[in-house]
Amino acid sequence: MTAALYSLRAGRSVKLLEKENFGGQIADSPRVENFPTISSISGLDLSSRLFDQITALGADFDLDEAMSIEKIDGGFLVKGKSGEYKAKSVIIATGVKHRHLGIEGEEKYLGHGVSYCAVCDGPFYKGKNVMVIGDANSALQYAILLASQCPHVDVVTLFDKFFAESYLVNGLKALPNVSIYHNLSSISFNGDGNKLSSITFEDTKTHERKEFAEDAAFVAIGQVPDNERFSSIIKLNRGFIQTDEAMKTSADGVFACGDCREKKIRQLATACGDGAIAALSASDYVFKTTSN
Ligand SMILES: Cc1cc2nc3c(=O)[nH]c(=O)nc-3n(C[C@H](O)[C@H](O)[C@H](O)COP(=O)(O)OP(=O)(O)OC[C@H]3O[C@@H](n4cnc5c(N)ncnc54)[C@H](O)[C@@H]3O)c2cc1C
Repeated sequence: MTAALYSLRAGRSVKLLEKENFGGQIADSPRVENFPTISSISGLDLSSRLFDQITALGADFDLDEAMSIEKIDGGFLVKGKSGEYKAKSVIIATGVKHRHLGIEGEEKYLGHGVSYCAVCDGPFYKGKNVMVIGDANSALQYAILLASQCPHVDVVTLFDKFFAESYLVNGLKALPNVSIYHNLSSISFNGDGNKLSSITFEDTKTHERKEFAEDAAFVAIGQVPDNERFSSIIKLNRGFIQTDEAMKTSADGVFACGDCREKKIRQLATACGDGAIAALSASDYVFKTTSN
């Protein structure tokens, strides 16, 4: 959306394709406290503000999933699940998607007790006992949020410690309705076929199996890129898009920004910075190729 903002302000017309929700990952965050000039804001509020800003400037948008990008005469053809779109230049900002555990019952109970977003699905389990699986910032943010609306929250990690910022670890440990379990490897999500009722784990040290009765389990074990579909036109490294400092990919006229590209720090501020650069580079590319 930042790339759209800068493109619009550079006088370009913009078509934004989004497969799920405008706002991306940050819409999952209950509280953002590191975005310059805003001391505290919900992720949903922040992304709605940006969406309003770009639509007010004239951004055109469609809910569609981009499946491929092809070079055609005078530009590119983006094929979506439900439509086809022509553009002089393309900016890819596909972010990352939630990593799955890949265990039995995960797909079956997805949306029926298994979730990857506490902000989106937490309210459905108000007053119920829930579990968070994960050991880093997102998992702890989820657990703290859920502890404010659920009687009890179990937090389970694979290793023997957390890999989160210390204020989150201390905040979590201070909560009276949270239990923490380390060294547990997840085995299966169980239920009656319609609804999750428990989760089975194996202790990585004793190999003993343990079953936790829960109404919901929130999985927060990191994110993975989803760019293979573009690999015929641009270069990827371990699934992430390779770019230079101008956000140019290996294909002339195709740019990438944010978490989807190969980089060290994946944060809101860095994604916005990338978006601004990608937009200005794309705008420059369009100017050069159309004025020749
Ligand atoms: C729970 C949580 C809390 C976080 N908290 C913070 C924080 O406090 N501060 C901070 O700086 N960062 C935080 N982050 C990280 C931050 O959200 C990301 O770094 C940032 O959102 C990256 O933006 P992006 O636009 O690159 O990607 P994303 O936010 O992942 O957006 C990508 C968008 O592209 C869409 N998409 C993907 N593939 C396609 C396709 N083929 N066709 C159409 N649309 C597609 C997706 O649906 C998504 O909406 C948090 C992340 C999470 C998950």
